[in-house]
Amino acid sequence: MDYSMSPPPYEASSYFPLQIGMRPSSPPGVPFHAYHVSLPSGPPPGLVRVERPAPSPICRLTNSEISLFGDIALYFDHPYDLNGHPVVVDLTCTICADCTLEMPANESALRPGLGPDPVVESMVEPLAVLPCGHMFGSRCLDTWLSSKDVSGEVPTCPQCRFELYHPARNCGHYLAPKQYSPQLSRSDQIPWTIPEGGSVPGECEACVRAQTDYQIERLEELLFPQVGFENYRSDDDERLVQGARLMFARNVEIMRHEVRERTLRW
Ligand SMILES: [Zn+2]
Ligand SMILES: [Zn+2]
Ligand SMILES: [Zn+2]
Repeated sequence: MDYSMSPPPYEASSYFPLQIGMRPSSPPGVPFHAYHVSLPSGPPPGLVRVERPAPSPICRLTNSEISLFGDIALYFDHPYDLNGHPVVVDLTCTICADCTLEMPANESALRPGLGPDPVVESMVEPLAVLPCGHMFGSRCLDTWLSSKDVSGEVPTCPQCRFELYHPARNCGHYLAPKQYSPQLSRSDQIPWTIPEGGSVPGECEACVRAQTDYQIERLEELLFPQVGFENYRSDDDERLVQGARLMFARNVEIMRHEVRERTLRW
């Protein structure tokens, strides 16, 4: 006999007690009140309830989850995860495996009861970031880089051996780490790292400045010559002045661009 087509023995609503807008119903024949009163409030006899600590609402990121600056930079200005839980970044320097990396000041507000401890504070080091995205205690990184300098080796990232030079076909100068200051926002101090889509510019800041100064001097010579145009201007002179004006406008535009891009430069 095929039961699948048989009508249910009681009202269909009993099968779907949690339909939206409906009150949960009791099993057939049991009054609603009696059903809910008789639910057990404790564990069944013979079972031992295991007491677990309530899960912490604070999301703590440590070295096992984080190796790149880009993974934590987002939390510096907004230290909350997608569920709105506070995010605490708790990283140790991977060179000495000992000192704690300094994070934004809002961190301490998220650690009630863990006020500044002079012993702990002395173990905190400013965060130094490299273009490859790796980060270290700044003192440990300085020691590492100066040991490379003394032995005449190429300065590299201690973790991935990224070479800290501007491209050799350009200026080829040393590429200094950037130190993170918790008082400033990220965009005021750390350029985009390579894993975040950043890049290493051809020229270092000093070379760009030197080139800009040179261009300004040349322009001054052209626009304000020591001798020449007061008494007589030939067509050639006019063309020279015209060319100088165009060059000046172009270089001013380049300088403005440099200022805008300043924070993206390593
Ligand atoms: Zn260290
Ligand atoms: Zn690296
Ligand atoms: Zn340079």
